[in-house]
Amino acid sequence: MSPGPTLGIYVHLPFCPYICPYCDFAKWPHRRSASDRYLRALESEIAATEPVPAATLFFGGGTPNAYDATELAGLIGRLRERFSLPDGAEISVEVNPELVREGDFARYRAAGVTRVSIGVQSFQPAEIATLGRKHTPEQVAAVVAQARAAGMPSVSLDLIFGVPGQKRESWRRDLERAIALGVDHVSTYGLTVEEGTPYAAWQLREPRAFADDALEADLYGEAIDRLEAAGYEQYEISNFAKPGHRCRHNENYWNNGDYVGLGVGAASFRRGERGVHTRDLEEYVAAAASGRPIPSETERLEGARRAGEAAMLSLRTAQGVVPEAFKERYGLDFLTFYASIVEEFRAAGLLEASADRVRLTRRGRFVANDVCAAFVTFG
Ligand code: SF4
Repeated sequence: MSPGPTLGIYVHLPFCPYICPYCDFAKWPHRRSASDRYLRALESEIAATEPVPAATLFFGGGTPNAYDATELAGLIGRLRERFSLPDGAEISVEVNPELVREGDFARYRAAGVTRVSIGVQSFQPAEIATLGRKHTPEQVAAVVAQARAAGMPSVSLDLIFGVPGQKRESWRRDLERAIALGVDHVSTYGLTVEEGTPYAAWQLREPRAFADDALEADLYGEAIDRLEAAGYEQYEISNFAKPGHRCRHNENYWNNGDYVGLGVGAASFRRGERGVHTRDLEEYVAAAASGRPIPSETERLEGARRAGEAAMLSLRTAQGVVPEAFKERYGLDFLTFYASIVEEFRAAGLLEASADRVRLTRRGRFVANDVCAAFVTFG
């Protein structure tokens, strides 16, 4: 398949109003001078990047709306031109609800943005405080209303489960609140404690403050039940969409499609080669601003490794692996090559497998990471 029609552009905007104690992303506290320099460096990187035609554009972070809407609109204009994004292409922006200002979404719409993803994480004031965040539930409702008033075609919310102190009941209220707001898409992520973060130190001191596997599984099951009952399709293990509102940019990742990442720490995947830009902000800015290649780690995925990565990504989705398409693309007979692990997971009730399709069962979704990892390391 030619990468042209589905290729995605990811742009990393790494500044945040404050740093959350669980965060392991490439991010820095927002300072005007640093964010201005970064924007200029990013523009140089865009101008130096091969102008491949793209289908989608995604701004992640960090906090993309730490930049004001006019700056973001300027950046979108340059990216649209450089990567020949067609009119109506999916353009997503992650936003922190606290930073949304009057008129932002109208400016986004005028620049072609079709999707906003609101970093809510929780509607419970105590949990919001535990996560080190500062928005209020009322602010989130106001931001959703503003997005609707501006005619934003797709509105998504992120929620986190497994927050210390979270109870099944409070998580249920979060899900109900998201549903009541009528958003088109919900992402639910289990909290992961990353090494080197303040949360990692907290967990060492007080392991019992954190959700155990049984509670996490309960909360995840609750999300699946509530969201599916409300008309959201679980199209990927962490993502739920109303009909017509799947995130196409992310679907391209799970389909092992090509993408170009711009900015500090951004990852790319092109023609079987994966590259990750340096996570050192100064190093990135110095290289990009002077037109030098961005220091990156690259690796070529070939043979069983490439097929295993593709299997892992596809199994995350509701569609799963279609053996016939897999053979055409990777030259491997999926059901023969992976026969032993497919059988093992099928017997354990974690995979359903037929000649047409292999996918996770409902039980399998709860241990998706383990099942998927087995395909990456197989062979
Ligand atoms: S806002 Fe997001 S990127 Fe920024 S510190 Fe918090 S979790 Fe990390």
